[in-house]
Amino acid sequence: MNKKEIIQKLIDGELKLYEVEKYSSSTEEAIDTRREFIEIVSNTELSTIGKYNLDMESASKKNIENPIGTIQIPLGIAGPIKINGEYVENEELYVPLATSEGALIASVNRGCSTITETGGVNTRIIDDKMTRAPAIKAKSAIEAIKIKNWFEKNFQNLKEIAESTTNHGKLLKIDPILVVGNYIYPRFVYSTGDSMGMNMVTIATEKVLDLLLNENDAEIIALSGNACVDKKPSSINLVEGRGKSVVADILIPKKIVENKLKTTTEAIVEVNTSKNLIGSAASGSMGFNAHFANMVGAIFLATGQDIAHVVEGSLGITTAENRNGDLYFSVTMPDLPIATIGGGTSLKTANESLKILGVSGSGNVKKFAEIVIATVLAGELSLIGALAAGHLARAHKELGRA
Ligand code: NAP
Repeated sequence: MNKKEIIQKLIDGELKLYEVEKYSSSTEEAIDTRREFIEIVSNTELSTIGKYNLDMESASKKNIENPIGTIQIPLGIAGPIKINGEYVENEELYVPLATSEGALIASVNRGCSTITETGGVNTRIIDDKMTRAPAIKAKSAIEAIKIKNWFEKNFQNLKEIAESTTNHGKLLKIDPILVVGNYIYPRFVYSTGDSMGMNMVTIATEKVLDLLLNENDAEIIALSGNACVDKKPSSINLVEGRGKSVVADILIPKKIVENKLKTTTEAIVEVNTSKNLIGSAASGSMGFNAHFANMVGAIFLATGQDIAHVVEGSLGITTAENRNGDLYFSVTMPDLPIATIGGGTSLKTANESLKILGVSGSGNVKKFAEIVIATVLAGELSLIGALAAGHLARAHKELGRA
């Protein structure tokens, strides 16, 4: 079949989108054919989407189905940012951020400069785990509790079974095991090395469930029962953590607050308390922060993370204290699912971004987590500083008028 015939069959519904490769001599040719088909049916001209230099042959094996090209998002850098971490040892780094939101990088950059002039931001990993919690159905609540007990009693054996499916994954615990009526939701908690781990833990958990079915009268309703909780905002992830749980803090001298952020410690503390704490509490928000999602989204796009996990990365708390005029400032992120291996991290552009940070490949994910939270602190500091400066400016203007 030639290209014209393939397109006609696609239009007539005689060929499925995913069958185009079968009749094409290369992945690139299939991509062009599918794009031409979509140009015709949507009456558009897609020359920009069609210009790319990613290895789409490799991408189409693990990252994308029915490809028609790529999208491009502007990539900028912020920095240098000095980080005093456990895995980033007193380094000054430039952070790649992909965004279409003007002013974001300029703002993060101002935060980086404030941090670096202060001598660096402290970063630490609190915890590191990935979870999967299937939905299991028993005949009754009493039977559900028996299954809960079965998980607890057989943990060592289940751990061996789960770990037989992976070289890097370790089953740390199955906890909590939620029982709701006759349903059971065991939360499998793994360490997943440098991968984000969702595929890894899904495969491992599935293997354990085979044994569950052999030994119990139960039904697997869904491999993911939403108590994981993957890609949704949730209290359990805020409290228990998921992915990397990280914290960062800094004590900024009064003079630097005034010179760099053009405001005062008092004003920043008041904005943080009224906005991030009281405003969030009053509205039932789970993100007690100003805009973690902005920095997380831009780093995730730049480095090939699973972008849907921004929703989890947006959880967390920002605190600010006045210490004799100096500003103590912290951010805590309990739920940051990230990777330096697997998923989208092998796409060339993503991999180059990881290389800018020196975190491409094995052995680097904790360093990467510290860089992410340092950048998040820079963005929080800058935005809250700007809001505080605006508040001060308005106050001065009003006083001037009075
Ligand atoms: P993956 O690309 O499926 O697997 C990464 C693999 O890399 C691991 O299984 C591991 O093999 C191997 N590996 C080599 N060196 C490693 C190291 N140093 N540390 C850890 N692993 C190493 O990625 P994944 O992280 O498991 O899953 C991420 C993907 O899952 C993303 O594409 C994401 O979009 C997708 N996802 C899936 C679900 C789902 O429910 N299935 C949900 C959300 C996202 P071994 O296992 O043999 O150690």
